[in-house]
Amino acid sequence: RQAAPASYLAKLNAEQRRAVEHGGEFLNDAPPLLIIAGAGSGKTNTLAHRVAHLILGGVDPRRILLLTFSRRAAAEMQRRVERITAQILGAQGAPLAASLSWSGTFHAIGARLLREYAQMIGIEQVFTIHDREDSADLMNLVRHELGLSQMDKRFPMKGTCLAIYSRSVNAETPLAEVLQRYYPWCAEWEAELRGLFGAYVEAKQKQNVLDYDDLLLYWAQMMTEGAIAEEIASRFDHVMVDEYQDTNRLQASILLGLKPTGRGLTVVGDDAQSIYSFRAATVRNILDFPGHFTPKAEVVTLERNYRSTQPILAAANAVIELAAERFTKNLWSDRPSADRPLLVNVADDVAQAGYIVAKILENREAGITLKSQAVLFRTSSHSAGLEIELTRKNIPFVKFGGLKFLEAAHIKDVLAMLRWAQNMRDRVAGFRVSQLMPGIGPGTAGRLLDSINEMGDPVAAIAGFKPPAAAVKHWPDFEETIGLLRRNAIGWPGELDLVSRWYEPHLERIYEDAAVRQGDIAQLVQIASSYPSRDRFLTELTLDPPDATSDESGVPLLDEDYLILSTIHSAKGQEWTSVYVLNTVDGCIPSDLSTGSMTEIEEERRLLYVAMTRAKDQLHVMVPQRFYTSGQRSTGDRHVYAQRTRFIPSALTKHFASASWPPSRGTRPGSANGGVSVDVRARMRKMWE
Ligand code: ATP
Ligand code: MG
Repeated sequence: RQAAPASYLAKLNAEQRRAVEHGGEFLNDAPPLLIIAGAGSGKTNTLAHRVAHLILGGVDPRRILLLTFSRRAAAEMQRRVERITAQILGAQGAPLAASLSWSGTFHAIGARLLREYAQMIGIEQVFTIHDREDSADLMNLVRHELGLSQMDKRFPMKGTCLAIYSRSVNAETPLAEVLQRYYPWCAEWEAELRGLFGAYVEAKQKQNVLDYDDLLLYWAQMMTEGAIAEEIASRFDHVMVDEYQDTNRLQASILLGLKPTGRGLTVVGDDAQSIYSFRAATVRNILDFPGHFTPKAEVVTLERNYRSTQPILAAANAVIELAAERFTKNLWSDRPSADRPLLVNVADDVAQAGYIVAKILENREAGITLKSQAVLFRTSSHSAGLEIELTRKNIPFVKFGGLKFLEAAHIKDVLAMLRWAQNMRDRVAGFRVSQLMPGIGPGTAGRLLDSINEMGDPVAAIAGFKPPAAAVKHWPDFEETIGLLRRNAIGWPGELDLVSRWYEPHLERIYEDAAVRQGDIAQLVQIASSYPSRDRFLTELTLDPPDATSDESGVPLLDEDYLILSTIHSAKGQEWTSVYVLNTVDGCIPSDLSTGSMTEIEEERRLLYVAMTRAKDQLHVMVPQRFYTSGQRSTGDRHVYAQRTRFIPSALTKHFASASWPPSRGTRPGSANGGVSVDVRARMRKMWE
């Protein structure tokens, strides 16, 4: 054990250090610990230090379970821990931190544990995982089978059905209550929905597939079953959770199962940043934590913000000050600056993009890299106009939280083939793959899947199936590919190569832009080579897909400089030197879609707080005077006259400096079109639809 204060502790303030050293000599017996504090106060940093401190204090890193909000956050945490341990132990430090193998999201960890314990809880080990889209597709299949959509055109759409189901599961709340509180317009369908969900659960079981919610649900259930629960719990001396304010009831009950007394449990979060209640996350988890255990949890609050300049923090504090309810206190910062954050008035989307591009380039000239600048928005589609402008100006960017790389149809085709070969009872994958072949529609596909199920030997079933004429010439290759995959004859990542070769003729037939898509698939093959096995690849990519990028062919080279575009939700926990918040107007923040109730509006306020507190040195709050929405299909696109968000009322404008763009020169002729060609407008519209 290091003689205190070790150099890594000396950098922390007293409260942070108290959290890091909590438990003293008896680290493995430490009472439950809650760190609750505002944005940028060093919560994540403190957690990383605590992990390092535990490792340096002799705790086995393989016995630490670290739950983060995304895979990216887990990797970042690992990097920070590595840096600290390497500082103290030199070359031995890095491998120690690298054996911190149990870190990831609740879903990813759940998937890993379920693979191990599947048989003990009566599910087959070769289950496949459905992402949200697959789940919605399966829900739709079942919905059709039950004739619900035919019975009444008003019956909720597949996405709504899935959302209702998911909320009920994640919040551990009865269906009737979920309907009454969140989906009153669907309440009349309670009986039918109950039947639908029963059939959906049955279909998942029959096909041996799990959806996202199941990963938590089964894990939570394992934690209630004596022997298994004990075995799983006994694997971890420490369980640590970042962003605890965004966990749901299921996740809280998993934690209680892992650490019933709370000893060895550390959770970290900020109630003012809770932004996932639409996924059934509840801020009660964090607020109720201290009272949950005897002895009571130790609570550490942090009050100093190390991230933002004073004026930025003052503005963010002022915004959250108006919140109806809040536990964490205002923060202070020791980073003076003469520059207040900017409220930037612009005419419209085009001027907004123009301002941002100009500032970004100006910053780059001044030595602020693209990577240390980020544009944040409420909804992914809001950045469409900016993306076009960035492309025209050759500014590379990466977009987080938008359409994922893996959601592209051609990528999904390839993955479905891999997944199906692994579990041929997976009907969503089966339908997708078989219909890639010419002449095969849902009817034929259904018959093929049935015969595969009945025969027991899928390859024989395919061989014995009489395909329609158009598909005949594709059949031998299809049969052979499935056969090779099922026999594990090729190994990883060669299997993906095999599938992409099988897919090529179909790709060329189906898509006009086959060459571009072929490039994506090459990219996928490259990503695949960094995974040890087909299973790990499928599991991890399904749970937390890499983001789509500006570069059509996939992820840009890592050493390249690029701008960050991100939804506010995906920007959680991160920080940038310069931050631009798009469309800070009523209708966008708060979103039109979420102004139904006070609680929803309060969540939108916290969302703005999250956005503002990402900024270190510069904050640009963009206020277009009108914005362009893609309305419902029936109403079409339209301009809407916009007003600055209600979360920044006049009383708060003193915290901001104001700017406008273009620098006033009077109205230019022809500016109605904003100088953008009709062609580009058409493209913009296409991107929104
Ligand atoms: P968020 O609520 O946004 O997740 P957070 O509370 O997790 O924020 P961190 O991301 O851990 O905050 O820290 C914010 C910034 O402050 C980071 O750049 C971090 O390195 C820095 N920081 C944290 N603690 C200290 C400290 N004691 N001394 C100097 N810098 C610090
Ligand atoms: Mg954090």
